[in-house]
Formats: sequence, structure tokens, C-alpha cells
Amino acid sequence: IVEQFDVIIIGAGAAGLFCAAQAGQRGLNVLLVDNGKKPGRKILMSGGGRCNFTNMYIEPAAYLSHNPHFCKSALARYTQWDFIELVAKHGIAYHEKTLGQLFCDDSAQQMVDLLVKECERGRVTLRLRTEVGAITRDDQGYRVSLNGTEVSARKLVVASGGLSMPGLGASPLGYKIAEQFGLSVFPTRAGLVPFTLHKPLLDQLQNLSGVALPATVEAEDGTLFKEALLFTHRGLSGPAILQISSYWLPGEQLAINLSPTTELGAFLTVQREAHPNLSLKNSLAKVLPKRLVEVLQTLAIVPDVTLKQLNAKQQSELVHTLHNWRVQPNGTEGYRTAEVTLGGVDTTQLSSKTMEARQVPGLYFIGEVVDVTGWLGGYNFQWAWSSAWACAQAL
Ligand code: FAD
Repeated sequence: IVEQFDVIIIGAGAAGLFCAAQAGQRGLNVLLVDNGKKPGRKILMSGGGRCNFTNMYIEPAAYLSHNPHFCKSALARYTQWDFIELVAKHGIAYHEKTLGQLFCDDSAQQMVDLLVKECERGRVTLRLRTEVGAITRDDQGYRVSLNGTEVSARKLVVASGGLSMPGLGASPLGYKIAEQFGLSVFPTRAGLVPFTLHKPLLDQLQNLSGVALPATVEAEDGTLFKEALLFTHRGLSGPAILQISSYWLPGEQLAINLSPTTELGAFLTVQREAHPNLSLKNSLAKVLPKRLVEVLQTLAIVPDVTLKQLNAKQQSELVHTLHNWRVQPNGTEGYRTAEVTLGGVDTTQLSSKTMEARQVPGLYFIGEVVDVTGWLGGYNFQWAWSSAWACAQAL
């Protein structure tokens, strides 16, 4: 006899755990499966071990998708405030780090514990170390081969996530299931990921590894982020870079303003009046990291002169370069270090209210496997919670 459930959910990550808990608490007999040894592995790694579980400023504009309206319904029906209430109910202390980003005071383990407890309240059956094999569909619903044994359910929820961090169990299973049932899948690429640089530039910037500064970074489509930029031994990272990476395509340039708060033309004019004999290098070091100025001098971008000696042409070239540094990245570090995967299951084939495939009754896609990708800062977990909740109401 084939073991039967109301719902089988594939993937015990953020979306799968939350959906299982909600569905179970609504009285459904839920089986949640994952190929890993423990649930929520990415949650444990997230936010530097403190899990940036949502953001106070969630808005649809903070999500990338070929269909930007798709995320609106779920985000409006289960909001950041709903999830914050649940976190508070579990007695988990949290704080805002910056830009509305909410982190656990203690540890991301608390977030996994919350989700597991909610699953227990819903009497969810959790099976780990489970490999998903063939999936078939008939009038009764779905049959799924798990570690070689068939189980069946009326409904199947795919919450297997994206391709980022294969070391944490990521696999293309969800995209394959979508294709098996005739849904289209947008090509995927790494998002929220550091950039690598071409050889001569990379060597020139090698001494800057570890230097961070506030910057604005603009992509060719005009998207702009003002956050910290970090030089690494491979290229560029830091929040501003991770954010813009989701808007960047191979071959494109970035425009980086290395001094977004001080207009350097005006600054140097004032400095020249006050300290004509000061070196340009020491003057710039008042507003930019000293190591950056030193490297820019070895590259002859910052001339080796005093302020008095700096002529108008030199000044305007220098100011232009620092406010509008053009960089063409070599590529990204790829899925190995990416926080998210862009692209995925085409949302035009899903109901934005229930996450069900329009042409395939009983088949649902939630979380990162769907072509909805948020900014850095808790936006991706909120999409996992909201899409999971919307789905669970409809199961
Ligand atoms: P996942 O959480 O990836 O879960 C998918 C699950 O499916 C996994 O448990 C996986 O093992 C399982 N699975 C995959 N393939 C199979 C298979 N073939 N068989 C069985 N099971 C399978 N977002 C934020 O909002 N805030 C943060 O602080 C944050 N930090 C991050 C830090 C890191 C290092 C990374 C990599 C990501 C971070 N993210 C963060 C993004 C966030 O983790 C994801 O967007 C979110 O986990 C997506 O939830 P999901 O449930 O859709 O997928």
C-alpha cells in the first residue's frame, strides 16, 4: 500500500518549513522532505549566523522578476509585521541593524527552532536525507518516489529553492519538476554576489583588499544603490556591490561614486585656500580611505602634487574619475558564493494568490524557485514567508 498524505512539500528550507507549518496547523496531513541532514541549512548560514529574517520596508519594488506585479498579492496578505509578530510570540529578541533589516540578537538557530516548533504544532511529518525520484500525476493527485519508495498526496508543493550554494544542498530539482509539467523556466543566474575583476585592474587594486568605504554604484539600466563597497582579493564586494550584481549583465559597466557625500571639486577648492602646501594625497585622505588614495597615486590617478600645484584640468579629471569610476567586471563569483538565484519558474503560469500552476491543478511553487528575487536585507526571507503563507491558505 502506498503511504498517503494531503500534501507533500519538497524542500525544508525557509519556504517549505513555513508552508508545512501553516498547512499542518490548518488540519492537513503534511509530509515535508529534504535531501539534507537538517532542516533550514541556509537559514543557519544567513545574515552572518544571525538571520536577517525580514525588513521593515518591504515593498514590491525591492523584488526583481520578469513579472514585477506577481509578488504584490502575497506580500500584502502576509506582511513583515505578521512575521515579526510570530518572532515576538516565540520570545526571540531581535534588532534593526541598518536600513530596516531585522536580525536575531542571538542566533539564526532560533529561527530554525521557531519553524520546527511551528511544524510540530501542525503535526508535520519531516523526513530528512530523502532523495526525490520520479514524480507522476493522475486523477488522485501526485505520486513521488522518495528514497525509492512511493508516497502519494492530492497536492505537491515545490519549495526546493535556487542554485546558490550547492554546498548547502541546492539543486535544480524544482526547475526540472516545472519543466516536466510543462511550465516554462526563465534562465537562472547568480544574484547578490561579489564581482571578479580582469587581470591588470585586479593586480593594481590588490593592496586594497579589505578596504571598505561608502559608495554609490549604478548599473547600466540606471538602478543605483548607496551602501558600503568592499575591495577583496578577487574584486569587489560589500552590500552596494551585492545589490547591484542582481541588475548587472556580463559585458556591462558599473559607474561608482567613491565619494557620495562629499563633492570633491568644492572640497579641494576649500582645502587649497586653507592649506595650499598640503599634498593632494593627504588632503584626499581626509575624505577617502588612506590606502585607497595611496593606490590611486601609484596608478597616477591622484597626481603627486601639493594643492597649490594642482591645476584646473588635473583637478577636474581627478574629480570626475572619483565620482564616476567606470569598472567593467570580469564576471561574478557565481553560485558558489551567491546569496540568491535570479530567474526560475515563470510566474505568468502561477496564480499570484495561491502559487498554484494554472494549468496543473494541485502543483504549487513557492520561495526562491519562483522567478521572484529580492534585494539584500531580509527581502528574500520575506518572500519565502509570504509565498508559503499564500500557498498554505489554498492547500
Ligand atoms: P532554501 O532555503 O534554499 O530551501 C530549499 C531546500 O530544498 C533546501 O533545504 C534544500 O536542501 C532542499 N532541496 C533542494 N534540492 C533538493 C532535492 N533535490 N531533494 C530534496 N531537497 C532538496 N535572505 C534573507 O532574506 N536574509 C538573509 O540574511 C539571507 N542570508 C543569506 C545568506 C546566505 C549565505 C545565502 C546562501 C542566502 C541568504 N539569503 C538571505 C537568501 C535566503 O536564504 C533564500 O532566499 C531563502 O532561503 C529561500 O528559501 P527557499 O525555502 O525557497 O529555499
